[in-house]
Amino acid sequence: MLNVLEPRHVKLAGATTLEITDITADAARFDGFDAHEQVWLGRDTVRGLTAIVAIHTTVLGPALGGTRIWPHATFEAGVVDALRLSRGMTFKSAIAGLPLGGGKAVIIADAKTAKTPAMLEAYAEMLNTLVGQYITAEDVGMTLADADFLAERAPNVAGTTKGGSGNPSPFTAQGTFLGLKSALRHRTGSDELKGVRVAVQGLGSVGWSLCAKFHAQGAVLTVSDLDAARTARAAKQFGATVVEGDAIVAADVDIFAPCALGGILSAKTIPLLKAGIVAGAANNQLATAEDGRRLVERGILYAPDYVINAGGVINVAAEMAEGGYHVEAVMPRVEKIATTLTKIFERAEREDRTTDAVAETMAREIVEAARK
Ligand code: NAD
Repeated sequence: MLNVLEPRHVKLAGATTLEITDITADAARFDGFDAHEQVWLGRDTVRGLTAIVAIHTTVLGPALGGTRIWPHATFEAGVVDALRLSRGMTFKSAIAGLPLGGGKAVIIADAKTAKTPAMLEAYAEMLNTLVGQYITAEDVGMTLADADFLAERAPNVAGTTKGGSGNPSPFTAQGTFLGLKSALRHRTGSDELKGVRVAVQGLGSVGWSLCAKFHAQGAVLTVSDLDAARTARAAKQFGATVVEGDAIVAADVDIFAPCALGGILSAKTIPLLKAGIVAGAANNQLATAEDGRRLVERGILYAPDYVINAGGVINVAAEMAEGGYHVEAVMPRVEKIATTLTKIFERAEREDRTTDAVAETMAREIVEAARK
């Protein structure tokens, strides 16, 4: 197990109000713990920071994963989120063939009201103690401007606009789009989208771009978002039907694309699905591991989230390539998502297993092979 939080790495001397604690042993009791190498808590009551950095593995390389700023209802919910998201990052990078481990950070705060320069400065101090172990990037609640702000203060920030690979969302959207088409081809023998009915939940950076691609190829869209201005724009621009809240799950469509937050596929929602395919960019779509089986029992083809949404991390990882970031090297790797998914769909059928179980096995095989 790595332990880079030795005194020589901790730049906490002087007047700082930041305290960093290794909470791995406590986190081991929480849902989502999976032999994580390390879990750190950064707390600064003066500057309003409560940050959890979960390092799942560093076997393939430093743990890469964005920082999510979200007002979790409890501290435990924030830790569980970081644990699950970081494990997903290990699987995501391994399956995408990247020399990176899995990590993720969660800052428990409302990004709209509590994200301040002082808070981000405290977080940058924390990042400095994790150089070599953890590399961060943007995620929900963190903007590219925030990433730039952090990168001016800590070296282990990727996906910035200044000398970095910039916004990962177009690459995530493109990978998700190609992955969706491979699911459609696997299910129906054709990836023609004209007239195919697609429901997109969440019209953020990825969901919006996905809608534009579907619309351009003649798909019929149903959408939902908490932000009424976004749904109104989708109705106008794409002729989309707008539904409220979780009604999107039960929309009468061929494909359901979750592009909001995780946990949308559960014992409660799966019986409501009319779509034959679930494929979208949101992380942690399955509320529990059993939900993968529930989808199979309903005859629904599920594209594992961390496989289909790997376009963003593939783009960020290109920053670390020898010779620096070159955008033209990114798309061919993103396009491989489609063939990887086809392999997963075929293996799942052959072995009579769920697609998410097969994807996890494939990822763990890659990590274990590297460990030897
Ligand atoms: P975003 O913050 O830009 O957009 C999320 C959208 O979902 C917002 O418009 C929000 O209002 C909406 N939303 C939230 N809860 C909702 C709900 N219950 N019902 C309907 N809409 C809801 O985020 P994004 O960058 O587009 O990412 C979307 C998802 O994809 C997230 O789960 C993210 O973790 C995942 N993801 C994103 C990337 C990327 O490159 N951006 C990469 C991998 C995975």
